[in-house]
Order: sequence, then structure tokens, then C-alpha cells
Amino acid sequence: MPVFRPQASDLRPRFPANSTPCLTALSATFTYTLQMTNQINVDPEEVAKFEAMASRWWDTEGEFKPLHDINPVRLDYIAQRVDLPNATVIEVGCGGGILTDSLAASGATVTGIDMAPGPLTVAKLHALESGHNVDYQQITAEDQREKTPEAFDLVACLEVLEHVPDVGSTVQACADLAKPGGEIVFATINRTAAAYALAILGAEYIMNILPRGTHDWERFIKPSELSKHSRDAGLDVQDITGMRYNPFTRAAGQTGNVSVNYIMHAHKPLP
Ligand code: SAH
Repeated sequence: MPVFRPQASDLRPRFPANSTPCLTALSATFTYTLQMTNQINVDPEEVAKFEAMASRWWDTEGEFKPLHDINPVRLDYIAQRVDLPNATVIEVGCGGGILTDSLAASGATVTGIDMAPGPLTVAKLHALESGHNVDYQQITAEDQREKTPEAFDLVACLEVLEHVPDVGSTVQACADLAKPGGEIVFATINRTAAAYALAILGAEYIMNILPRGTHDWERFIKPSELSKHSRDAGLDVQDITGMRYNPFTRAAGQTGNVSVNYIMHAHKPLP
């Protein structure tokens, strides 16, 4: 299959070294398409990284192993705060549907949105296998907010904010998607030396768990910054908890240490 080779100045793609030519070509085309419509709050290079890894999303030994391993911890955190069997939920940046599927398995009515078509296709195929009914759509949080404002008991946006250009805009869109009285859960990576050592050097360069370039330290977000974005969006921050993950033992859990991965619960007050 011929490989699409745009000029570097057009695209600046950074594909994982082990991506196949076919997926690389698809990603390059996709990146180009997104850059043509670059007015939206999406970084095409960031989304292309996930597009290139889409086929391996449900491989529990592959690049998404950490997400599979921490998923029960994230789900527990959410289930402690939201009555999932009776909740209407949207996951912003759902990717291949690891959390989405588990939210649906918990009895929630779930919509999953993302801007990468490959992971969404994988998520839809997985839903056919798991039998869980999820409405997957390719749309930004900002555009979904226009379609279904104040529609969801829970807005979940986990491991996404460190990939979007305008964090405040995504946080505001998540707030606007939540019903008054609803809950919003974010998870991201703190901008600390510890996070650089573990999430970038450790995961990408030493242990090769993630392709190099998956994360960009400068995009990591301090809890104080995410709290401010949340307050600016009219939300009340309820909790910030650290998440620990040991890639050797694959053990994951909640921790008081927020220096690397952390999860935040915010509440949208009634008017
Ligand atoms: N939330 C999922 C997947 C995290 S991977 C989970 O935790 O299991 C990050 C995802 O964010 C990718 O699927 C990527 O395509 C998506 N993403 C990145 N920027 C985005 C944007 N601006 N809008 C929507 N999704 C985005």
C-alpha cells in the first residue's frame, strides 16, 4: 500500500517507532485532515498518537497495559461518588473504551466521545463483544455541549487533559455537559520532577511501556491549576486523590501522594 508522505512542514507527525506503515499512512492522512480544520480545541499530533495505537487498545499486555491496570481503581473512585446504575454518563476522550465499557457494565447509560476515529471504531467493536450498550461519537466536548447541555449526572474526563491545547476550555465544556447537581471526574498527571521521572523517563524510555513521545511534560497539569480551571467553570472541587501504579507488580491503588497521577472529583452546584 502506498504510504502518504506529506512535507514535514505540513504535518510534523510523531508516530511511534513500532507503528505499521498502514496505520502510519492512515494517521498522517488523519492528522492532515484535522490540521485543515484546526479551529477546534484539538491537537492533531496528540490525537494521531492514539490513532496509531488504536488496534492495540484492548491488548492488556500492550501500550495500554497501565490503563487496564488502573481502571478498577478509577471505577471504584467514581462508583463511590456516583450512583452508576441510575446515572447518565458521558466520557470525554474515551479512546478505545476501557473506562467507558466498565461504566456501562456498572449499569450506567453511557455516551463516549473522542476525536480519534480509530479508537472509536475499536471501542464500538469491543462493545459488540462485551454486549454493553454505549453511544460512541466522534465529537469534541465543546461541540457536544452545544448538542446536549446539562444532560449528564457524571462527566468523566480521564487521562485526556494533558493532550488538549486549551485545558480550561475542555474543563468548561465538561462543566456545561453536567446537570446542575451533577459530578465531574478528571484524572491527569502532575507537572513535577517525579512525574517526569516516572511517566516519561520510566514508562517511555526505560521500561518501554508507552511509545516515546506519548507524553509531553510541559502539558502536565498541577492540581492547583486544575482546581482553578474547575472553579472558573463554576465547579466545587470535592476531592483530589493520588493514583499509584507499580509497572513491575502491576499493582494500582489510591494514595495520598498526588505527585504523579491524580484523580479529582468536582461537583456542579445547583443554581
Ligand atoms: N479516557 C480514556 C482514554 C485516554 S487516552 C481512558 O482513560 O481510558 C487519551 C484520549 O484522549 C485518546 O483517545 C485521544 O484521542 C483523546 N483526545 C485527545 N485530545 C482530545 C480532544 N481534544 N478531544 C477529544 N478527545 C481527545
